[in-house]
Amino acid sequence: MIIDNQDTIVAIATAPGEGGIGIVRLSGSDAEKILLLYFQSAGNCDQLSSHRLYYGRFRQIDGEMIDEVMAVIMRAPRSYTREDVVEVHCHGGSVVLRRIVDLFVNAGARLARPGEFTLRAFLNGRIDLTRAEAVIDVIRSRSEAACRVALGQLEGRLSQKLFGYRDGISDLLAEVEAGIDFPEEELPLADRHRLIETSKLLEQDMTALLESFESGRLLRDGLSILIFGKPNVGKSSLMNTLLGEARTIVSDIPGTTRDTVEESLLLKGMPLRLIDTAGVRQTHDPVEVQGVQRAQSKVAGVDLVLLVVDGSQSLDEDDQKALQSCDPDRTLLVLNKQDLGVCQLPVEFQALPAISISARDSSGIGDLLDGVESFFSQTTGSEGRETTLLSDRRHRESLLLTRNALERFRLSIEDDSPTELGALELREALQSLGEITGETAPEDILEKIFTRFCIGK
Ligand code: GDP
Repeated sequence: MIIDNQDTIVAIATAPGEGGIGIVRLSGSDAEKILLLYFQSAGNCDQLSSHRLYYGRFRQIDGEMIDEVMAVIMRAPRSYTREDVVEVHCHGGSVVLRRIVDLFVNAGARLARPGEFTLRAFLNGRIDLTRAEAVIDVIRSRSEAACRVALGQLEGRLSQKLFGYRDGISDLLAEVEAGIDFPEEELPLADRHRLIETSKLLEQDMTALLESFESGRLLRDGLSILIFGKPNVGKSSLMNTLLGEARTIVSDIPGTTRDTVEESLLLKGMPLRLIDTAGVRQTHDPVEVQGVQRAQSKVAGVDLVLLVVDGSQSLDEDDQKALQSCDPDRTLLVLNKQDLGVCQLPVEFQALPAISISARDSSGIGDLLDGVESFFSQTTGSEGRETTLLSDRRHRESLLLTRNALERFRLSIEDDSPTELGALELREALQSLGEITGETAPEDILEKIFTRFCIGK
């Protein structure tokens, strides 16, 4: 990625297609000059004030009218990028938008790359990398829960915590480095004790944040649910009923592999990923054995299993086999076909939370969703609303490296090893931490992050 933030960039900021309005955005030192080549406010103002919306006409240099528009100038540094930013709000058809962009390009602006406005906000120090990443998460979030996590991050809650860690580690480093100047002298016991205690506190806080990853991931990416059981118990019928209940099917990943079908959807505000498997049944047919093994291997990789049985009949060996593959802490027993009657459950099944339903007439589906919801809120905790959560794998990996380096530092002080060693560990901790906030993030990480953005953001 070439980072050039000297020129003025332009992009359409609204989504493609027809809309009531469309917005073209410019950022850079020439933004205002370029706007004034084409825009004449209705009040014929010579000077446009910052952060005020002006109604007027957008014309080519030869006077030909392009559109009636509203324009706003946000002068640096009070803007999204901390540069002069101009927005032109026009009618939302693609022809008008394109013509405006073309005129701006003719006047010297360069087409922005995906995420380049946010990249500039980051490079100009308005937001750190975690907040830049939150921008894309807010745009992409598919549920209120995911959006709340992203907004918390955008507000800077995570960055505040991380900057707190950075200051704590920097203070430790300053103390240790002061000691390095007098290598022949040992660190006094009281100083060592203080260093150890401070390090421990920081480590504990980081560990708690690392542990929030599971909740953060679920809120952000959704709960994966496997519909599991022997053939003909009604797994596909249940899948279809649940899909019918969903107001929004987020994406129909055409994930119909040989053995599984996957759908992402929103139910009661929860982002879910439903996976329907091939039936599990004891079999000797080698092809079927493979399918069954693959279905069983999926059980381990999901957040929740809905173990479906035909509750109107006595359960058999195949149901027992399916039960054995499940982890009771992550399994809800679904007694399907209640419209045909209800049989006594064998004792091994009685330990699981069970819900009776009929996939055929949709009875009991509300109870099933309540069961899923309570599992979801248990797993994500009551947190997710106010507390800071880690939800990004990249952040987790770097924070883990930071915490481990800090721990090695503490052990080196406890062992009374040379202070240079401790200082090295602290520098490594700062390096890993800086990769999360962007202070020390190499260009390839920046490239990976910003190419996920859409153009115009
Ligand atoms: P799968 O093999 O587990 O996916 O099972 P299917 O969803 O294909 O269902 C097997 C058979 O059971 C089909 O004939 C369904 O119509 C029927 N079935 C599914 N759910 C119910 C139910 O709740 N009540 C009744 N009576 N029949 C059901």
